[in-house]
Amino acid sequence: MTRLLILGSANADHVMNLEHLPNPGQTLMGQGYRLEHGGKGANQAVAAARLSREDTRVDFICHLGQDAIGQAMAQAWQQDGITPDGITYTDLQPTGTAMIFVADTGENIIGVSAGANATLTPEALEPHLELIAKADYLLLQLETPAVTVLNALEHAKANGVTTILNPAPAMVIGKDLFRLVDVITPNETEAEAITGIEVTDEQSAKLAAQMLHQFGPKIVIITLGKRGALLSTKDQCALIPGVEVKALDTVAAGDTFNGALMVALGEGKSIEQAVAFAHRAAAISVTRAGAQRSIPYRHELAEHE
Ligand code: ADP
Repeated sequence: MTRLLILGSANADHVMNLEHLPNPGQTLMGQGYRLEHGGKGANQAVAAARLSREDTRVDFICHLGQDAIGQAMAQAWQQDGITPDGITYTDLQPTGTAMIFVADTGENIIGVSAGANATLTPEALEPHLELIAKADYLLLQLETPAVTVLNALEHAKANGVTTILNPAPAMVIGKDLFRLVDVITPNETEAEAITGIEVTDEQSAKLAAQMLHQFGPKIVIITLGKRGALLSTKDQCALIPGVEVKALDTVAAGDTFNGALMVALGEGKSIEQAVAFAHRAAAISVTRAGAQRSIPYRHELAEHE
């Protein structure tokens, strides 16, 4: 059995639509409200669970608050096939929360409170070290404390686990982390935050990829939105085009891409095939609204296999 492990954040996204964004001190009536299950770690775990075959085990190490939304999310993940062993409830903080205002123009304002995600410290990781050691692949992002990400990567590499880092959201991080990463998957903004190279096209993406290789990862994948992704390995550096669709909402596109990529690698697909698989899954997600609810199931891709 292949074991896929995701470590990261879970957030309750409170989304309100308004005609326009409120000014400071102004109260505006919204046009609708919804509560979404989000957070990069959780989105990627859900993508891995929905897209993997039955011979794959998917674990998710995260911290939730002891509240109703945390329980609702965990229940939904279990229905998607995520093994619950890595899910921990803390009484120190509520479940991570994002407050999102979206104007008719599509413009938004977002405030995020890390909540329980911030309590996923290296000490809190200790009960889960065995899960990490037993994994075949470990996928991480940067919405949980950086020191925990570093710890998990160190333990993974010491146990021969293949590591994938989606360095999102964009931030400046210590380069020592990258030597523990086998596959790195930034988008354009994140690639620029790490390398200082403004990524606007294939050429600049290639330059950024070269620098990322110097930090450690043998496989660099820079996602380029609807254009697809630049794949760079020791043998090749080429653009792998995405799938053309009518995009409705690109929230969780990158997360779907990462979860799908891990699934495909876990099935022994080549890196080119894995990127193509990830493009297909991410393209479906952008045709639908929402975060976790936009992520496709394997059978939706099977039609094209
Ligand atoms: P992020 O969502 O992290 O900002 P990107 O915008 O680069 O990342 O998108 C990640 C992947 O999602 C792309 O490589 C592609 O596979 C898919 N994708 C994103 N936007 C579109 C789109 N408009 N049409 C088709 N696929 C898309």
